Amino acid sequence: MTPRRQMKVLGSMLMAIGILLIAPLRASGQEKKVPERSEIDRQYLWATELIYPNDEAWEADFAKLEPEIARLASFQGKLSESPQTLLEFFKLRDDVSPRFEKCYVYASLMSDQDTRVTKYQGFEDRLRGLAVKFGQATAWVEPELISIPWETLDKWMKENQELALYRHALENLFRQKKHVLTPPEEMLIALSGQVFSVPHTAYNLLVNADIQFPKIKDADGNDVELTDSAFYIMLDSPDRRVRKDAYEGIVGTYRKYRNTAAALLNGAVQTHIFNVRARKYDSCLAASLDGSNIPVEVYNNLVRTVNENLPLLHRYTTIRRKALHLDDGVHDYDLYAPLTPEVKLEYDYRQAVQHMLEALKPLGPDYCRTVQQGVDSRWIDVFPTKGKRSGAYSSGTYLTQPFILLNFHGGYEDLSTLCHEMGHSMHSHLSRTTQPYVYADYDIFCAEVASITNELLLQEYILDTVKDPKTRLFLLVEFLEDFRGTVFRQTMFSEFEQKIHEMAEQGQPLTADSLGQTYGQIMKKYYGPDYTHDPLVDDYWIRIPHFYYNFYVYKYATSYCAASNIVKRIRAGQPGAVEKYLTFLRSGSSKYPLELLNEAGVDMTSAQPIQDAMKYFEKLLDQTEELLGLK
Ligand SMILES: [Zn+2]
Repeated sequence: MTPRRQMKVLGSMLMAIGILLIAPLRASGQEKKVPERSEIDRQYLWATELIYPNDEAWEADFAKLEPEIARLASFQGKLSESPQTLLEFFKLRDDVSPRFEKCYVYASLMSDQDTRVTKYQGFEDRLRGLAVKFGQATAWVEPELISIPWETLDKWMKENQELALYRHALENLFRQKKHVLTPPEEMLIALSGQVFSVPHTAYNLLVNADIQFPKIKDADGNDVELTDSAFYIMLDSPDRRVRKDAYEGIVGTYRKYRNTAAALLNGAVQTHIFNVRARKYDSCLAASLDGSNIPVEVYNNLVRTVNENLPLLHRYTTIRRKALHLDDGVHDYDLYAPLTPEVKLEYDYRQAVQHMLEALKPLGPDYCRTVQQGVDSRWIDVFPTKGKRSGAYSSGTYLTQPFILLNFHGGYEDLSTLCHEMGHSMHSHLSRTTQPYVYADYDIFCAEVASITNELLLQEYILDTVKDPKTRLFLLVEFLEDFRGTVFRQTMFSEFEQKIHEMAEQGQPLTADSLGQTYGQIMKKYYGPDYTHDPLVDDYWIRIPHFYYNFYVYKYATSYCAASNIVKRIRAGQPGAVEKYLTFLRSGSSKYPLELLNEAGVDMTSAQPIQDAMKYFEKLLDQTEELLGLK
């Protein structure tokens, strides 16, 4: 579910490698007997040979990178000399960075397709080492650029058209200038970096290494070891006893560490507060959003509008209570329980591709032709094979075609994942073939819009075609769950995140009790009168790693709402809607995220896109209630 790509961070003008968009926690697919890669028809394997025909070619390119980094470093102190020198530096950087990324993409794809082959992990390690050198060799660039008077740069760009290409990137850098401190102050902040990462590191070690979960009995009475990754599979069980035992096994175990976990989360929040005070931001939220130039109002607007629509989520809780006959109310461990466990949808891969092409038809013949070409020219590594990395992502870089890693099992979620990742890859493809390198990558705020638009087009198409009531019910609940997990749940997390930062900013202590109380109150508010709150739920926040990512998860919700608004207008045949959306996909990061979305017809500072999404949720609720005979 995560686009994986190499990114230039325009704000820092530094290259970061291997940045992953972090996916919300979700259920993973079941294990089946897996073949070796050699048993898979070549047309279902991604075309890594188009990046490098062999490892020797990779080695040859890799060897060229180190001297190039030294060349970049040699520009230190010279950027302000003349527009020609500055342009020469930008051109060199825009030449070296994509070649670096190309090396990285090859190494990571080769490593992920069979993690048993350690050679490519070695390639990745060497690149990571080189990335550190790259970072050190170019750490001076940003401070040096902002020390040039803007008037000078402005004049240079007016006189030199090639340099004018970098105007937006430079404006973005200067926009944040007021938060950049003096060189000695910056040095002190840089020195504190490793100390500041301790809470997150310690949290990761606590939950991934130290915490041991108990065994529980599965539906057949067999002992199974609980793991955090098996958690959602257990919560998906039709057997309530299994769900409850799994929930108590996992969350009950986290609860034992609640004081440590509270101290760690408090530590992370305090690092954000330090940054706010040192760099003179208004709040932790404002500081975090400033990186993508997102006003705080966008965040507040999301939380406010979702809150206004909570009666819809309460209605969904009621549907669950009635359909599952839960006389004592819906507990947290009932929220994932299937309503139609007997329905299993199966697609073979060819069928899935055909469904995808049909579903994406509203985006026009050009879009669909490119998708077909992508499938034919082996963008996708389709099936699970021995040693292959699990999950799904979209990768590739400026000098390569897009690449999609799938683990296609044939369920509806696999078809949906195919459309989702194709959305990322088409966004990358269209931006990379339209934009110069400096603007070819899109901001994370925009990334999930392209993928969710495809998912929603698929949902509408499937609902149009499937008539069998049981199958429809199965699908409707899938879509409701998808909505709940992406919009309501992530906004709920966002609200928690905002609340605890505000508490800390006002000097209130963040303790296990205050965090638990805050989380519990928000849960009760969101799920409504038919939800039964168990005291254990108060400690659920402990298992959410995203709270260490500094206001990240709201982007899932805003992306869903933006996509929902786009799909609504495209499906309604609104004149220009498709063309505007395709322009958005071609725009990379050539403008600020909100501007790009605005041009696609979505105003994320208004309640409208969120209201539109809510109307879609309501439509799904109506149809579900009707099929269940609850109307
Ligand atoms: Zn995604």
